[in-house]
Amino acid sequence: MKVSLSAIPRIRIANLPTPVEKLTRLATKIGVRELWIKRDDLTGLAFGGNKTRKLEYLLAEAISHGAKTLITAGAVQSNHCRQTAAAAAKFGFDCVLVLTGEPPTRYSGNLFLDHLLGAEIVWCQKEARETTLQEVFQHLWQAGRRPYLIPYGGSNSLGALAYAQAMIELAEQDIRVDWIVFPSSSGGTQAGIVMGSKICGVNSRILGISVDRPAIDLQNWILQLIHTTIDSYSLSVNVSSEDVWVNDAYLGEGYGIPTQADIQAVLDFARTEGILLDPVYTGRAAAGMIDLVKRGTIPPDASVLFWHTGGSPALFAEGYVKLFTSVE
Ligand SMILES: *Cc1c(COP(=O)(O)O)cnc(C)c1O
Repeated sequence: MKVSLSAIPRIRIANLPTPVEKLTRLATKIGVRELWIKRDDLTGLAFGGNKTRKLEYLLAEAISHGAKTLITAGAVQSNHCRQTAAAAAKFGFDCVLVLTGEPPTRYSGNLFLDHLLGAEIVWCQKEARETTLQEVFQHLWQAGRRPYLIPYGGSNSLGALAYAQAMIELAEQDIRVDWIVFPSSSGGTQAGIVMGSKICGVNSRILGISVDRPAIDLQNWILQLIHTTIDSYSLSVNVSSEDVWVNDAYLGEGYGIPTQADIQAVLDFARTEGILLDPVYTGRAAAGMIDLVKRGTIPPDASVLFWHTGGSPALFAEGYVKLFTSVE
């Protein structure tokens, strides 16, 4: 096996390796033998999260292209946009964020941080996102601002490679578990973790909990991203559809609308371990993990690692503060 991820240009942004901690009290509470957490909420850049790892590779490419302005897109409370704005500030880029939805009357959570970090914000409706991104790109290009487009969620091959590297990092921390569970949305994290597990021969079951789309769509997209990445970088790994496992049983009313179980999972992590999840991604994935233990899909004698992908600033978004304080 000859893989040299280390040859791919990368700048250092994140505090790595992120810690792995054992959650004894929560393991007992939910009824599983061993529960670990990989703290990618502690990557460090302006409250961190999984996008910081991807940005190490994406910014290296932006710099090599001579870019001056980073553009990306996301939801109002996008963690990806907040981390991109922070990375832009740190490396002297301008940053334009295309956010979907109605501009709220007051800024809070990630949106407030986008503003603090100096990002320019362009609002559009969800249907118009692609065309708006293209228009903004053209406009910046014509104005001589050398734009570099970072895909939604940072999920292209470079973003996926960042998570292959993260999986290798976890293997080097010598934690062997039966299951690895985390939220999955634009797919780069899962694509990378799956590739990384093949590279270092880790046999854990890797389960992405979908936060916003049907399993079959996400699974197909992740597989395609994996195959594109393997081809582009001549990686000698074999990945088949059985390696890409997505559960979409926890979508509730959709993206960004926490279910009662999502809220309970956030409270459980907070009150049993002092760990803050987020209301959109990790809350949902944790609720899924807890339910799968309850159902016996994840057996009680299993060891499980929950991969914390970040996002806690969204807890401070006005709507979520209200929601979480009105449940009790
Ligand atoms: C973006 C994000 C995810 C999903 O990662 P993908 O690579 O887009 O699948 C999970 N958790 C948090 C907190 C995120 O911001």
